[in-house]
Amino acid sequence: MIPGARIIILGRQGAGKGTQCVRLSRHYVVPHISTGDMLRAAAREGSELGLAAKEVMDAGGLVGDEIMIGLVAERLEKADATTRGFILDGFPRTVKQATALDRITAQQPIHVVIDLDVPREIVLERLSSRRVCRDCGTNYTAAGQEPSPWICDVCGGDVQQRADDTPDSVNRRLDLYETQTSPLIDYFSSRGALTVVNGVGHPDHVFKRLTDSVEARR
Ligand code: AMP
Repeated sequence: MIPGARIIILGRQGAGKGTQCVRLSRHYVVPHISTGDMLRAAAREGSELGLAAKEVMDAGGLVGDEIMIGLVAERLEKADATTRGFILDGFPRTVKQATALDRITAQQPIHVVIDLDVPREIVLERLSSRRVCRDCGTNYTAAGQEPSPWICDVCGGDVQQRADDTPDSVNRRLDLYETQTSPLIDYFSSRGALTVVNGVGHPDHVFKRLTDSVEARR
């Protein structure tokens, strides 16, 4: 395994992207850059951007392209990303964001774009039982007998249901994925940059498929 990689992970929300991205970032020793985590952190800090984003997020909408492009451009300029690389999770989500990302990464092109493919019916099921550590982003599955408060095994943070994991919000996000984000599959595949990885199965098997496809591309 060679450390360092510039990887984009696409896929429906609830496809297990977050957990797999955390694992990939440890495996390749690169930062996990999740735009959703960045927005949730801004919301917790109560910044103007964070509070405006929270309203959009809770309703299952998409935050404006210009804001997202600015946030990501600033983050990718930081030394950890320029020297080691990154796992980009949750960006791009629209074709406009993808074309901006091409400009942002012109000097250090992306090695691989992976579509972590999980059918809509399966993600709907997973999202209803999803719980997430609000500090480190580790995902858990609720089975109905969880302690309260629920403490994260990895970092000791609070494990909670996300405010945007309500049925209405989930359906809206999945609809937006089909109209706004799934065109990125063609966008990247027409440039020969895309690998589709089957995201259904045991997380260890999915992780192995992901690292195999990264190695095949680098
Ligand atoms: P995630 O944690 O990736 O599921 O993102 C949570 C929410 O943050 C999304 O439902 C959007 O409201 C917002 N968000 C995250 N990334 C983006 C993006 N690239 N473009 C627009 N909105 C985003």
